[in-house]
Amino acid sequence: MLGRAVPLLLFTLVFNPRVIAQDVRIGVLGLFHPHELRLQASRNEAVIIHAADQTFVLEPGPRMATVHISNNALLLDFGGYVVQTKELRATARNNGAVSFLLTVPGKVARAYRGTLVVKATRGEVVPIITMDLETAVASAVASESGSDTPPEALKAQAVVARSYFLAGGGRHRDFDFCDLTHCQFLREPPAPDSSAAIATRETQGIVLTFEEKPFAPMFSRSCGGHTRTPADVGLPGGAYPYFSVLCDFCHKSPYRWTRTLSSQDAALLGKGESGRLAVDRRLGWNAVPSNNFTSRSESGQVVLEGVGQGHSIGLCQRGAKALANEGSSFRQILNHYFPNTQLSLLGEHAVRPTD
Ligand SMILES: [Zn+2]
Ligand SMILES: [Zn+2]
Repeated sequence: MLGRAVPLLLFTLVFNPRVIAQDVRIGVLGLFHPHELRLQASRNEAVIIHAADQTFVLEPGPRMATVHISNNALLLDFGGYVVQTKELRATARNNGAVSFLLTVPGKVARAYRGTLVVKATRGEVVPIITMDLETAVASAVASESGSDTPPEALKAQAVVARSYFLAGGGRHRDFDFCDLTHCQFLREPPAPDSSAAIATRETQGIVLTFEEKPFAPMFSRSCGGHTRTPADVGLPGGAYPYFSVLCDFCHKSPYRWTRTLSSQDAALLGKGESGRLAVDRRLGWNAVPSNNFTSRSESGQVVLEGVGQGHSIGLCQRGAKALANEGSSFRQILNHYFPNTQLSLLGEHAVRPTD
């Protein structure tokens, strides 16, 4: 059954003119809290900057425009000519997507493709990129997956990333998604011949749906033996009723961890996922890797011994990798971690998993 369904779906993907072009609005580089941002053309194409009713042409090459924050407004410095503006936009000559390089001096430089809006919010320069959905998917797959992830697990991740971008918006005021694990971790787009880009192309337009509606599927790095439901870890439910499913690989050889916390920090735990994240916010990422632990007191401190990484809801990346290595297809992987869902092509009716 599976063997027949895949070529059929590929046929519809290649010849289906109704796959709709979608855009995603992503706030980037917020982690670096930029007060200054440099913008450069990164390919053989000019970047047109629109600010304060004026237009500036940034030709390809070393020339750059600098944006500073000043009293909650932006100062655009274009070769020594400075204008104050509330917001600026950067596009190609045709007003569409353009390739550009964003630099937070001393911290990070990343290349992107899309249209850029820069705002001043709470004393910071906030770059927001509207990019093609498939570019965003490939970028998230590349950032969220380990380099040894096999192709079918990458494809499952691509479908999850795409569905999330399609259905999971509205978590931020000025944009739909940030580029951190709060939404989906996302750096620059991967090279077209990278495994993440290939997995994205081979699943182009495919999303997970429940009762014919796309939903924002959750995933975590490793589940510890079985996945959990949002209710298990004190999170609100959503459009899809998650199930706790056995994850064979993690069940046989769970990722184990040990942490020692002060009794003060440990007191924040015990409130499910929100408690764990509160400790992580205080002590740093991965301070408590998962919710699945036992605790004991030892010389005035609290020792946690646990399994798994992340909230363990939805797709388990470690289990998906093992399933793919054992020969499962991305459809089988998704069907395992998201029971009762279908795979659909954007703009088309549901394609039922056939395995
Ligand atoms: Zn976010
Ligand atoms: Zn697992």
